[in-house]
Amino acid sequence: MIKSITDCAILNNGVKIPWLGFGVFQTPPGDVTERSVCVALETGYRHIDTAKIYENESDVGKAIKASGVLRNEIFVTTKVWNSDQGYESTLKAFDLSRKLLDLDVIDLYLVHWPVVGKYVETYKACEQLYKEGKVRAIGVSNFMVHHLEYLLPRVDVVPTINQVEWHPWLQLPKLVRYCRKQGIQLQAWAPLIEGQGLTIPTIVEMGKKYGKSPAQVIIRWDLQRKVVTIPKSVTPARIKENAEVFDFELAPEDVAAINTLDENKRMFADPDYFDF
Ligand code: NDP
Repeated sequence: MIKSITDCAILNNGVKIPWLGFGVFQTPPGDVTERSVCVALETGYRHIDTAKIYENESDVGKAIKASGVLRNEIFVTTKVWNSDQGYESTLKAFDLSRKLLDLDVIDLYLVHWPVVGKYVETYKACEQLYKEGKVRAIGVSNFMVHHLEYLLPRVDVVPTINQVEWHPWLQLPKLVRYCRKQGIQLQAWAPLIEGQGLTIPTIVEMGKKYGKSPAQVIIRWDLQRKVVTIPKSVTPARIKENAEVFDFELAPEDVAAINTLDENKRMFADPDYFDF
């Protein structure tokens, strides 16, 4: 059972990643990001998920410095954006991200989207960064089974993580099985469906039963499904609320009830048809 905010999943290369992280997509750059990440670190989160395209890497870096938390106690993820994909351009993009974050080593570097014709070379650049010790782990994001089936025979290092849209309406059972078989840890983005998951009647009712909010029910379900999760908020009370998920456990029948909500309903961009 996952019992604390510092409990970790162990990746296929032995690196540990806290099961609960803090996302900063759409968190405005500048003070808002810096303040939100500071509140998250004060609350006890030890895992921050940013990306080059979020334009807030430097604010994440500032918050980490200002927090006084030891660097090696915080797990930091960033991602190579689509327009930077390709071998040399990924190496260059990584250097910029590292500079903006003001960190020597990044914990996890992800290929943000499977850009057709480019993602293999991009991933090979990530392998190079990994071999040079500039990142502790590498992985992918928004990869479906067929992207992984194409990638794996062409590279040396099995991705540690696949970060995908994943929530009660989109549970991707085939991908979950495939990743588990390959030793790739699944990570959920938009776990709260950007707020829309909080009014699903089954989840609201379950919240009442456990004396927990709908957000806490969903986050706890992620943890019990063994999916690393990274809810985002700029609201201090919600940042704290989302971390208070270690003092209860959903009964197996309640995990199963949320499992039945799967509608294969993708709410955001489709990895096979994105145009950015
Ligand atoms: P989430 O599902 O985490 O939802 C965030 C939204 O929910 C915000 O509007 C937030 O509001 C609201 N919210 C958060 N907590 C609560 C709460 N307790 N009660 C009510 N409302 C709440 O969506 P994200 O898209 O942000 O996904 C999470 C993270 O995943 C991102 O921040 C990013 O790090 C990552 N991500 C990765 C992607 C990828 O392609 N790899 C794509 C998208 C996201 P408010 O902030 O106003 O409090």
